[in-house]
Amino acid sequence: MRQEIALKKIVEYVARKASSLAQKYELDDLVAPSIAPIFEKSVEKMASMLVKRNNGMRCNLCDKGPFTKRGMYLHLIRVHSKDIEIMVQEELKRLLEVIRK
Ligand SMILES: [Zn+2]
Repeated sequence: MRQEIALKKIVEYVARKASSLAQKYELDDLVAPSIAPIFEKSVEKMASMLVKRNNGMRCNLCDKGPFTKRGMYLHLIRVHSKDIEIMVQEELKRLLEVIRK
């Protein structure tokens, strides 16, 4: 249950990053501080995969847009939160494997 709440907040963090909105949480509060700096790079990678930035902001998953920052964020949260959740879980799994080696 706690993990589910954290996952929702991480999805929000990624969507905010992708839409260039200010963050509400520190990444340190959402993932273990030991992986936060590496995970920040993953967040940037995911954010760049979600949004196309030539000609305003467009959704890279379904090509809708152009959006304002707020509109982009709401679109990602409303339409693609499951997609982002899966991306986040994959990234965390990959990072934890890398760290364990
Ligand atoms: Zn979309």
